[in-house]
Amino acid sequence: MNFDMTEEQQMIKSMVAEFAEKEIVPVAAENDLNEKFPWSIVKKMGELGIFGTVIPEEYGGGGFDNIAHAIVAEELGRVDSSVRGIYSVQVSLVALTILKWGNEEQKKKYVPRLASGEILGCFGLTEPNSGSDAVSMQATAVEDGDSYILNGNKMWITNGGVADIALIFAKTDKNAGARGITAFIVDTKTPGFSTRDIHQKLGLRSSNTAELILTDVRVPKENILGEVGKGFKVAMSALDFGRYTVAAGCVGLAQGCYDVAKKYALERVQFGKPIAGHQLIQEMFADMIVDIEAGRLLVYRVGHLKNKGVPNTREVCVAKLFCSEMVNRVAYKALQVFGGYGFSGEFPIERYYRDARINTLYEGTSQIQKLIIANKDLGISAF
Ligand SMILES: Cc1cc2nc3c(=O)[nH]c(=O)nc-3n(C[C@H](O)[C@H](O)[C@H](O)COP(=O)(O)OP(=O)(O)OC[C@H]3O[C@@H](n4cnc5c(N)ncnc54)[C@H](O)[C@@H]3O)c2cc1C
Repeated sequence: MNFDMTEEQQMIKSMVAEFAEKEIVPVAAENDLNEKFPWSIVKKMGELGIFGTVIPEEYGGGGFDNIAHAIVAEELGRVDSSVRGIYSVQVSLVALTILKWGNEEQKKKYVPRLASGEILGCFGLTEPNSGSDAVSMQATAVEDGDSYILNGNKMWITNGGVADIALIFAKTDKNAGARGITAFIVDTKTPGFSTRDIHQKLGLRSSNTAELILTDVRVPKENILGEVGKGFKVAMSALDFGRYTVAAGCVGLAQGCYDVAKKYALERVQFGKPIAGHQLIQEMFADMIVDIEAGRLLVYRVGHLKNKGVPNTREVCVAKLFCSEMVNRVAYKALQVFGGYGFSGEFPIERYYRDARINTLYEGTSQIQKLIIANKDLGISAF
């Protein structure tokens, strides 16, 4: 067992940390305030190869390992969870999913352009009436000659209003449960495809979240991802990728909370000494340190399993559950360190606190992670 980062991982960490400080930190608060999608940051991430970190070189990526992929999510999450979310969806939910399930033509057509940021992708699974219970989705895909005709609505879709392609999950057989779902790669410029942006979110305010509305969208059969009836498997494997970078992003955000709280605690003087010298403040710092370090180890363990190419659903869910709950504990304590100043937009802790909240909700709520973890060990599904 080796807990050291490789030279490559260290290099990626320094590069992304520098990019984050120089390009993201100066505009993050303003983008959050104005709900402004960070187009220029996304463009630069593409140019620097950040989206391509874990993508194999033959598909236009850097060919780095899964721990480097987590490190990118961590460093982006440390300063701006909206940007981290864009990265997670683009790379984990879309590019890696096409790499895993796509045929050679699909991989060549989409993955290099996702890796370079030339196109953006989104992942459309959730619907207005189908969240945790994804199999109950109502979107349909009806065969028509060389195409399928898609109808339905997808809700809460990250990158939905800015994406060039959407992975859409729809029922090709309404009576076959999970085996009746098929995944499609849909060009968002196809007639009948429209979006509605969702505003005034609690957090992730510079990330785009949208409803997708599909009305008689004609999708050629060559755009089926995987096989007809295997879409639920595609979606679940995508979540194994996605939950990994959510967990890594939580570690980064928790580290960001810790860093700003530490700086403040060393400067703020009450009762004649820096508040960092008060025992109850130190207790909060000790709790935060233990939480963050435990979360980081869980994430890197998943990276290790992914590098080995072995199944890791259980370990991903453990990391996602722990880290998403952990970042909320850490954000709460870090804000407490700021006292009343934490309650205003003067310090980034206010944004970090709001951004932490989503993590126990999306890509499977904490309750759903628990049901998956327990099922993996007990062998009895609670669904
Ligand atoms: C900002 C944001 C971005 C998102 N991005 C995407 C995206 O890019 N793509 C996408 O497809 N979706 C996305 N989502 C959707 C997200 O994944 C869902 O919101 C999530 O899966 C929960 O579904 P729901 O909101 O319908 O809640 P529900 O499923 O209605 O759950 C409500 C509550 O009931 C609990 N619950 C449900 N079933 C059970 C059970 N069997 N046992 C115990 N408790 C249960 C849940 O844990 C939760 O507490 C996003 C959501 C948000 C808010």
